[in-house]
Amino acid sequence: MPAHDRHPDTAAVHAGRLVVPSNVASSPPLFQASSYEFSDLDDVEAIYGGARSGKIYGRYGGPNGEQFEAAIVELEGAEAAVGAAAGMSAIDAALATNLGPGDAIVATREVYGGTYALLEHDYRSRGTGVRYVDQHDHAAVAAALAAAPARVLYVEALTNPLVRVADIEALATLAHEAGAILVVDATFVTPALVRPLALGADLVLHSVGKYLGGHGDVGAGVIAGSAELVERARAYLIRRGATMPHFEAWLATRGLRTLGLRMERHSTNAVAVAAALGAHPAVAHVSHPSRADHPQHALAARVYPRGMGGIVAFDLAGGAAAVDPFLRGLETIAIVHSLGEVATTISYPTVSSHRPLLPAEREALGITRATLRISCGIEHPGDIVADLARALGGLGERTRA
Ligand code: PLP
Repeated sequence: MPAHDRHPDTAAVHAGRLVVPSNVASSPPLFQASSYEFSDLDDVEAIYGGARSGKIYGRYGGPNGEQFEAAIVELEGAEAAVGAAAGMSAIDAALATNLGPGDAIVATREVYGGTYALLEHDYRSRGTGVRYVDQHDHAAVAAALAAAPARVLYVEALTNPLVRVADIEALATLAHEAGAILVVDATFVTPALVRPLALGADLVLHSVGKYLGGHGDVGAGVIAGSAELVERARAYLIRRGATMPHFEAWLATRGLRTLGLRMERHSTNAVAVAAALGAHPAVAHVSHPSRADHPQHALAARVYPRGMGGIVAFDLAGGAAAVDPFLRGLETIAIVHSLGEVATTISYPTVSSHRPLLPAEREALGITRATLRISCGIEHPGDIVADLARALGGLGERTRA
């Protein structure tokens, strides 16, 4: 039917045409489409069978997800990568596709609270053997792997909130000797600072909403590794409806453009913040791998020559009573229960990330009721330090008031 004979109701549905420019856009266009057209049934067979590349349906992935995954493949030095709806979906897919009924996992006892909840509520209850271990005690890791016996060793590159440093190379050797794979959550470091696959890890994963996205506006995850492991994870994510949404992939790809610059600045700002806090009488203890008193300072210097990340933890000398007055004294640093954003933020692990733990469990990890975690942003370091110094300086008066 000629276009001009259509009823306006029909024209409104079909009018206009998709303009695909013949030259390449210099920045990535957003493909928000959730479905794609096939020219005929041969086309359906060709695309489903992989003989012709083409998109099928939103949940199976779109051009923005594919572009983000290609970027992660290159950044991580991986064979393949798959985006996920959240960091937690990435973790679930990495575990579910490598743990069969009755299999066991050995995980760092400093694991992120959400991962702990997933292991306890969804894996242990389904019969997975779950053991926690001090990832820095390699003899204990080897013993736990052998005792399980484990299919997966799960660690975090830098731990939350005390930024302890995993020796990925040594842990990969231990995992492989025990017949397990090593999965590394590298959310706190990103491939700008370390590439766990090059150090022997089998899978690396991230909460993309942290440093990879970088601007506090993305909810997504990603897994990278061998094509075999990643494609198994992709199929699982598609079945679960937990693939990465197009807009998140577009935002995350834009965030990646500045990853190198941001991670460099986050890291140098953290060194400045750690030094300033360490010299302040209102601070009892500071945790950052750049400090000589950090337990893995020498390892960090070897593995992280490009920077040791933007997270700094510290204990207030005034104890738990000083926390609220200190937080109220901050002017530009906001209380935020996330990290890795361009703005400096702060969290109180006792009431946020480590809330589900019993006080004794937190103490065993070295997290006290006076521990705070700063995610250093990319502002001028002088202004971050000045805000902290102002809040620390007034602490005595506000605590007394
Ligand atoms: N891994 C780490 C280290 C995290 O800090 C978080 C979230 O804070 C996650 C995984 C989970 O990621 P998401 O919140 O994107 O599901």
